[in-house]
Amino acid sequence: MTGRILVVDDVEQNIKLLEAKLTLEYYTVYSAMSGQEALDKVKTYAPDVILLDVMMPEMDGFEVCRRLKADPETAHIPVVMVTALSEQKDRVEGLSAGATDFVTKPIDEVHLFARVKSLIRLKMMLDELRMRDKTGEEFGLAAKVASVTEQPSSGHILVVNDDHVEASRMQKILQDAGNNVMQASDAAAALQHTSKGVFDMVILNAVLDDADGLRLGMEILAQEANRHLPVMVVVDEDERSLIVKALDIGIDDYITSPIDPNELVARCRTQIIRKHFQDALKAQYHENISAAVVDSLTGLYNRRYLDAHVKNIVADAQSRQSPLSLMTIDIDHFKQVNDHPGWGHDVGDEVLQEVAKRITDSVRGTDLATRPGGEEFVVLMPKTPGNIAEMVAERMRQKIGREAISISAEPGKVTVTVSIGVSKLDLDGVDSAQELIKRSDEALYQAKHTGRNRVVMFGQVSKAEVEAGANADW
Ligand SMILES: [Mg+2]
Repeated sequence: MTGRILVVDDVEQNIKLLEAKLTLEYYTVYSAMSGQEALDKVKTYAPDVILLDVMMPEMDGFEVCRRLKADPETAHIPVVMVTALSEQKDRVEGLSAGATDFVTKPIDEVHLFARVKSLIRLKMMLDELRMRDKTGEEFGLAAKVASVTEQPSSGHILVVNDDHVEASRMQKILQDAGNNVMQASDAAAALQHTSKGVFDMVILNAVLDDADGLRLGMEILAQEANRHLPVMVVVDEDERSLIVKALDIGIDDYITSPIDPNELVARCRTQIIRKHFQDALKAQYHENISAAVVDSLTGLYNRRYLDAHVKNIVADAQSRQSPLSLMTIDIDHFKQVNDHPGWGHDVGDEVLQEVAKRITDSVRGTDLATRPGGEEFVVLMPKTPGNIAEMVAERMRQKIGREAISISAEPGKVTVTVSIGVSKLDLDGVDSAQELIKRSDEALYQAKHTGRNRVVMFGQVSKAEVEAGANADW
């Protein structure tokens, strides 16, 4: 995941240090050395996250944060306050000024990256939701962003902890902040409670008497109703390897014990908002079904929607100078499925449905999977550079071809492969949606003519290679 981060600090050395760390993780970093400079640069660079030092001469971090939050143009950008260690009142003041979270100096890398990653993810969902609102407007649909940003950011939380005293303390803190909180004291109860999909997030102890908390987290996420359920683990401060492992396996966030009440509330708030964005994307999708912009066979967006959305998203990417990639996927020799004696088009439809499902499973919620027609699919990937898109495409190709697809006709299954063309947007401001699609079509053509069942990034296959494979049918 890429993202743009504005680092604000009055000490150049601090900026240099953060810049070095964040650049290594492929983030784009901008910097400002005063409050005023920060306010100006936010407008110029539209960062995804702001790391804001509290102690600065003239305008301090709290004031900068208050001004950012008071301006509708910048209010939605997550702010992480950088405070001195153990300054309790700074944290409280930061949060009441509208900060989303905080990190303490000296900055711990794991902690910093966890905060940045989680907030960029949140911001990406918000941006995508806004873009889809915009496209939806063209089809007369109501905007969804407002429903999330205007509602109080509290929710239903399940606390899984076998230490009843600690669990009750957490319950009290979170309830005081307006949440509904339920407790589960063991793995079985946790799985049972979460199976109904009614929670907005789960907080789990990484170490439970009867279970491995991380494993339990994975089991909860594997339940159909909980694919997008935020899971946060409680970890002892000195258990660094456990923290790294948790983030590595897809746990959304962590908090260290003994728990700081402000940190707990802030952290939960972020996860709950993300869940609400996720739910809004889902609700938006359901409205789109009724607006006839969703393909009824596969449930993916159709050509009408793709045409409208791709234009909006290209314009947005260019104005923010943010990467954008697109892939065109085509099932190899699909004609053989449709023309197979005794199979008919029902089997063809079964294959299309399963391929669509595998495509959806291979991409993120902010990516847009579409079926413009026939056996062709297009995936739009906002904020994604070409090399990442190529990686996702390769994983998708393998996922589709690896396992046979169950069909209702003899012999009960068929294996299909796909060819994928990938292109990325040129950020020079001249490139158009049409050109982007054309290049990925061209790359797909090259994939077909150089053996199929492969991914080709536009511009990476030579003309000679394509000519050598000429006459290939699709
Ligand atoms: Mg300072």
